[in-house]
Amino acid sequence: VRQQKIRNFCIIAHIDHGKSTLADRILEFTGALTSREMQEQVLDQMDLERERGITIKLQAVRLTYKADDGEEYILNLIDTPGHVDFTYEVSRSLAACEGALLVVDAAQGIEAQTLANVYLALDNDLEILPVINKIDLPSADPDRVKQEIEDVIGLDASEAVHASAKAGIGIKEILEQVVQKVPAPTGSPEEPLKALIFDSHYDPYRGVIVYVRVIDGSIKAGSMIKMMATGKTFEVIEVGAFKPRMSIVDELNVGDVGFIVAGIKSVGDTRVGDTVTDAKRPTAEPLPGYRKINPMVFCGLYPIETSDYNDLREALEKLQLNDASLSFEPETSSALGFGFRCGFLGLLHMDVIQERIEREFNIPLITTAPSVIYRVTLTNGDQMQIDNPSHYPEIGKIDYVEEPYVKAGIIVPNDYVGAIMELCQAKRGEFINMEYLDTTRVTITYEIPLSEIVYDFFDQLKSSTKGYASFDYEISGYRRSNLVKMDILLNGEQVDALSFIVHKDRAYHRGRAICEKLRELIPRQMFEVPIQASVGTKVVARETVKAMRKNVLAKCYGGDISRKRKLLEKQKEGKKRMKQVGNVEVPQEAFMAVLKID
Ligand code: GDP
Ligand code: MG
Repeated sequence: VRQQKIRNFCIIAHIDHGKSTLADRILEFTGALTSREMQEQVLDQMDLERERGITIKLQAVRLTYKADDGEEYILNLIDTPGHVDFTYEVSRSLAACEGALLVVDAAQGIEAQTLANVYLALDNDLEILPVINKIDLPSADPDRVKQEIEDVIGLDASEAVHASAKAGIGIKEILEQVVQKVPAPTGSPEEPLKALIFDSHYDPYRGVIVYVRVIDGSIKAGSMIKMMATGKTFEVIEVGAFKPRMSIVDELNVGDVGFIVAGIKSVGDTRVGDTVTDAKRPTAEPLPGYRKINPMVFCGLYPIETSDYNDLREALEKLQLNDASLSFEPETSSALGFGFRCGFLGLLHMDVIQERIEREFNIPLITTAPSVIYRVTLTNGDQMQIDNPSHYPEIGKIDYVEEPYVKAGIIVPNDYVGAIMELCQAKRGEFINMEYLDTTRVTITYEIPLSEIVYDFFDQLKSSTKGYASFDYEISGYRRSNLVKMDILLNGEQVDALSFIVHKDRAYHRGRAICEKLRELIPRQMFEVPIQASVGTKVVARETVKAMRKNVLAKCYGGDISRKRKLLEKQKEGKKRMKQVGNVEVPQEAFMAVLKID
């Protein structure tokens, strides 16, 4: 039967270990694409993704492969996002598979996201097939990496394929292993429809395209389906598969991976992890593991030009159609005017959205420093969730405050253990444990406040280990902390968009550092601008931006006109990123300055 010939698998790897390259080779090898088509890396579609070398949207491709046993197999290759912000989406796409290719760089060995992904694959009971990639590199040491996989992960690596995705070595062997070792889907064609949503995207012509894996039953055009978590029902217009282009098929059956089009208007109705069932003959129970994902990191987005406000709202609405984890609501700042408070899964997600707004929608933005959600319990017993520091209650009204912590796993060469510990300690981390991976590398686990991770942790981790550290984290829960709000005053006026939350023990140090940083960032004005940092009414630090000495244009009097024009244009350029706050011109960087200190 057809079901016995289906293999659903994904590729998991630490970033840069060659997942996308291997996926491309597999597409090429199975004839899904010619090498010319290949050039536009099909599995990473968006520009931003390609530039950053990350995969944000999950993709699923149906391939046919004639194996050495003479049989033709249907291989569904599901691509997973490669960044810590998207752990939940990774876990749902793994849940759509029976097997995973574990790609490990033959020169680098196991890294933090290798481990994180392996744990997710094990949670989903996947058959894991190790692949040692980049064996073409002179520094490749496949035997050491095999040993590491056995020792650290406890997988049998004796049959690991030695591959080079770049040179096209080992591809056939990998596909043979997929056919032989990954189990065919179980599940029953007679049972009511049960399908897992592992991704969706918004298409302006057809509405939401829902990516599903059929667990039981079947689905075809005309059937009424129901999303079990959201309770919404839809009539199926068409079903199909990505081959890799979208192609309509008559039916999706047990074990199949494909898409559903059903006139759905927003991806919010098709939550990743939700179960699709037959509206008339529903399945008894939804699939396990569904979670509504909540944004963890918030920041304010303000148009530099006030007149862009409506365009910004439209841009956010459009992006949200395609991204259920993006949240936004209107917000006003006395310093920045009208804008939006936006919620993201993590820092990368935040970066991607900001960049898309600026690039695709052409709206220059001022963004405020990211904040996590603080839980504040007031002395009168009320509880508040604070995602904007300027809404932090007065100290006197607060009973206690809790902040989110993450469990961070960091892998580094032995030589950098000291540097990592120093960094984590500086970030208020609590040491959990340290284990040797082999004789040269260790994995270190810390619990660290999420807010400290948000503040420049990645960059500092990279610079203090010359780029050798790899890092992964998951939210571990809320803990009480002694936190205060720090306000910044420019020219005597409090600038709400510059307020931030800080641990009491560090308030003095941070206050001084931020004042110094702001003094560097704020250009001289016609008058002197005092900068103050205060906690409550107490000023903890003060700096001054001296008044401008002379008009920059004065230099040009009598000079040639083109030079003068250039100067004016340059000033205009600079202005784009300036915001008038009271009577002080403040550059965009100032609002992010708090991230760049310590
Ligand atoms: P991903 O982040 O896991 O998707 O990794 P990519 O597929 O984007 O590859 C990261 C980098 O490694 C790219 O520059 C690839 O060209 C390179 N790469 C991938 N596979 C190989 C390989 O087998 N050998 C060598 N030498 N480089 C490779
Ligand atoms: Mg990739």
